Amino acid sequence: MTDSNIVDMSLTAGPEIVAIPGPSIIPERVLGAMHRAMPDIYAGDLTEVIDEVFDALPAIAGTTSRAFVPIGNGHAGWEMAIANTLSRGDRVLVLDCGRFAGLWGEMAEFNGLRVDTITAEWGSSVNPAAVEAHLRADTAHDIAAVLTVHVDTATSVRNDIPAIRAAIDAAGHPALFMVDCIASMGCERFEMDAWGVDVTVAASQKGMMVPPGLALVWAGDRARQAHTTADLRTRYWDWTYRTEDGPYYLRFCGTPPVSHLFGMREALRMIAEEGLDARWQRHERLADAVRAAVTAWSTPGGLGFVARDAAHRSHSVTSITTGDIDAAEVMRICRESLGVTLGLGIGAADGASFRIGHMGHVSAATVLAVLGAIETALHRMDAPMGASGVGAATALLAGS
Ligand SMILES: *Cc1c(COP(=O)(O)O)cnc(C)c1O
Repeated sequence: MTDSNIVDMSLTAGPEIVAIPGPSIIPERVLGAMHRAMPDIYAGDLTEVIDEVFDALPAIAGTTSRAFVPIGNGHAGWEMAIANTLSRGDRVLVLDCGRFAGLWGEMAEFNGLRVDTITAEWGSSVNPAAVEAHLRADTAHDIAAVLTVHVDTATSVRNDIPAIRAAIDAAGHPALFMVDCIASMGCERFEMDAWGVDVTVAASQKGMMVPPGLALVWAGDRARQAHTTADLRTRYWDWTYRTEDGPYYLRFCGTPPVSHLFGMREALRMIAEEGLDARWQRHERLADAVRAAVTAWSTPGGLGFVARDAAHRSHSVTSITTGDIDAAEVMRICRESLGVTLGLGIGAADGASFRIGHMGHVSAATVLAVLGAIETALHRMDAPMGASGVGAATALLAGS
């Protein structure tokens, strides 16, 4: 599709922008904090870092409950949540609106749980009424937990977590409510306690601005209660063994992830300096700019949104359908010629999609550069385009 008259000149010698939906851009301050020799792990510096990290984490999720910080990625967080609260043969209800809740459900099944799944239509959010109906039908209260995602990173759909909580309550069902916030933590408003979430799972490498390597798991009172009788418990994941009052060593079931903890402390300080509310507003504003661009570009045969309902579009990632336009070619030009790496589309028909991550350490400059690269690629390809997305995004950011 590339116009053969155009020399595909590389213009990438300056800083590159990786705009994939995780791992996201790591701030220099975080990288700098991680770049240090190993300290004593039983005394001094590191213990202060650990205290500061554990003290700061509850507020990030809007809870007074403590967090657990296992070494691992998001999948590790999923497994920690399941292994600490459920028993072999328990039923769980998975609410899938893309890719990730379904994968969590597969893990649950592998671990000996019986899984019911409600799958939203591709591009739509979970329907709370369907959740209520499913739970009402479970009159024996067999279902021990409801598992879903806040933001699905494949579709960039955001679920209405309070509405799902309300549906569980309306059914009078006692199931634990577990929410994967891996793509949204630190980017989108999330209030674990106010929203009645029992277990929240996140990870270091997306909105939290730290390299992959730490999972973050917040456990509410009801989950801690369920923990006492759960038989999927294993030593490595066990919340009791990782006691908050015991030696620092046990909190990680072994040697702490030293460098990551220094990085996480710095990231948490940056979040505190910005303020959580300001951070959520920044993400929303920048996401609005991305959405303004996609709306302007969109045209028959051209770009469009994967997430159908504007009210359910994530502020941390945007998944874009490309119609008749070759998504791989857009991505190739952006990466090889313009220095911008976009995220591969997941799950949409014919691979005709790509994703923009705008989570964590991103400014208006970052987002405008990404949008500018996409528009440049579309021009080079002579692709169908409604209007200038960059124009729409800059007008939005100008407040006009
Ligand atoms: C990235 C992501 C995951 C998977 O995290 P890993 O660190 O790759 O295990 C799970 N859920 C959501 C919503 C994600 O965005």
